[in-house]
Formats: sequence, C-alpha cells, structure tokens
Amino acid sequence: MSREKGFAIEIRERYQDVAGDRWPAAVGPQPDELLSSWLHRLAIANGVAPRSFAGGLGLGGGMWSPRLDARLPEDVAAWLGARTGVACEAISAMAMTDGALAPLWLPLRETARRSRSTWIQYCAVCLADDSAPYFRRSCRLASRISCFTHRCGLRDRCPACRAGIVPFAQTELVPQYVCVCCGFDLRGAAKVSVGLAARRLERSIDDICKAEIAKGSPTIHEWVARLLRVPVIVGIGSGRPLTSLPASARIRCFEQLAQRADDERVVAADRAAPRRCRIAPTTGGRDGLITRFADFLDAHQRSPRFSRARPPGADLAALLAAYARAVGDGPRSKRRGGGAGLHKSLAA
Ligand SMILES: [Zn+2]
Ligand SMILES: [Zn+2]
Repeated sequence: MSREKGFAIEIRERYQDVAGDRWPAAVGPQPDELLSSWLHRLAIANGVAPRSFAGGLGLGGGMWSPRLDARLPEDVAAWLGARTGVACEAISAMAMTDGALAPLWLPLRETARRSRSTWIQYCAVCLADDSAPYFRRSCRLASRISCFTHRCGLRDRCPACRAGIVPFAQTELVPQYVCVCCGFDLRGAAKVSVGLAARRLERSIDDICKAEIAKGSPTIHEWVARLLRVPVIVGIGSGRPLTSLPASARIRCFEQLAQRADDERVVAADRAAPRRCRIAPTTGGRDGLITRFADFLDAHQRSPRFSRARPPGADLAALLAAYARAVGDGPRSKRRGGGAGLHKSLAA
C-alpha cells in the first residue's frame, strides 16, 4: 500500500443504477399531513419550486395540489411512489378520502374575499412547533375552528396581507409557511382566541363524525347536512352554508351556538327546578352541552325534508344523548375512553 497522501479513486455503480427513478431528497409524510402539503415540501427539498413541480407532474397550473387532495388518480400515486420510496397506500391516505365528510371540505378558492372561506386553515403554533412545518388534513374541514393541541382558533389567511394560503403558486424555493403574497412567516401569527364552550362543541362534533364514519352509519349524511346549516340557525352569513364562511365567522357561529344551547338549558332548568337548584351556565360540562345542542338543533333545524326523509335510527338527539352518556362529564382521563364507550352505547 502506498504511503503517499492522496484520494483513493474507486469506480462505483452509476447513480442512475443505484437510485433508479428515485428523486435525491426523501421526504416522509407527517401525521395527518395533507397530500398537497407533502408535495410542496417534496418539491422544495428536491430543488424545484411548487409551481414548476406541477409542470413536472404534467398537471396544469392554478390549484394543482389541492385538486390532487380532492382526487388523486391511482397512476399519479404510483408514479409518486416510485420516485419517493413512499408506499402508494401512504400517499393515497394523505388525500381527502373520507367521502362522507366531503360536503364539509372547504371549497377550492384561490382568491380570499373577506367574507368567504378559503381552501385551508392552519394553527400558527403547530407550524412553529413542527420540525418540518406542514398543513393538516383535518384543517380542510369547515367544522374545524380550533387546534385541539394549542386550544386556539385556526386561521385561514395571512394576518399581514389578508391573502389566502397559496403555497401551490410559489415560484421560489421558499417554505410553505411563508406567505406567497407578502413573505410573512405564518409561524409568527398571533394566537386567535376561541371560547371554551365553542371548543367543547367542536370537539364533540369531531368525535361524533369519526365514530359515525367508523361505524359506516348512514346517519352521517344527515348529521353533515345539519352542520352545514349551523350559520342559518345562529343568523350569521346571510343564509350561506358553513363551508362558505371564513374561519372568523365560523368561530362566531360555534360560540353563538354553544351559548344559545347553554341558554336553553338554563331556561329548561329554571322551569324544572326551584331557583336555589338552578344549574349555572358553566356547569353541566360536555354532557349538558351536547344534550342541549342536540335538542336545540332538533327544535330549530327540523325541516319538512328532514322529517320526511329521516331514516330509522337517525334521531340526532338520541345519538348525541348516547354520546353524552358514553363520554360522561368526568375528568380528562375518563374522556379518553369516550370513543369506545360511544361505540358500545350506539351498538346497544
Ligand atoms: Zn396547534
Ligand atoms: Zn401575506
């Protein structure tokens, strides 16, 4: 062996032979990550701006990645799988596959008119905490108004310039948490406050949706139709459905609905009990809130269409009462088992 210093040169396999069709940078999906979010990260990691990446995929411009969220063709999933090493199933799972909740998806809108919804929402604290900031699938639903982890409201636009979040239109190698329109770092957006009752209501709605989907229950369609009409019940949004309203208006809807359901509960308690036994508005917790919410929806939202078309077992009040019984009003540790209890209760 020579003692002379120098570089050892060795002939190895060609990169093409080793990597095949794989792109150089691997990007793994994050928990609950939306397909479009992963695509934007994938593009930037591989040195291509998202707008140009769409061309590479043979897709048109505009909202190319949110369109894939809504409908991912199998051949595109397979093509992406071959180039990223991520299983096709994992790629497909990032798309919005839950058809039963499709009416609650925020519509694809590139412009962000003040009084209208935008296509995606985010929690600034989540983005700040993420090692690789990403957008969540759950934030595509109009029925989501807050972050369950950070207990703050979701935002649906840039707080600096009020534009919508449009990372698919990014023409530079800039991460998706930076506003495409003004360059504001969305991770620095201030927390939005949402009342406790509204957050409890939202959480219950989310739990029920998940349980109904897991059961494959046909009542989910009626449940979703009722949720869409929540703004009409509380008189916000000039008769438009939940999906049309911006995040700030949907937060107001939930706060008012929670308040009105609670007011009705207090009135009912007044009628039923002497003054000294009244239930204060802050007591009753989740149990009381859900029960009154169900009664409230039934009283205010029953339409001839629902009355005629209501399938057997589709009584929302009964469903929510069962949920309230299963979840109870106990401490946090007790609630954790609520899902299983609900299944048991609904199956009975
Ligand atoms: Zn968060
Ligand atoms: Zn901006």
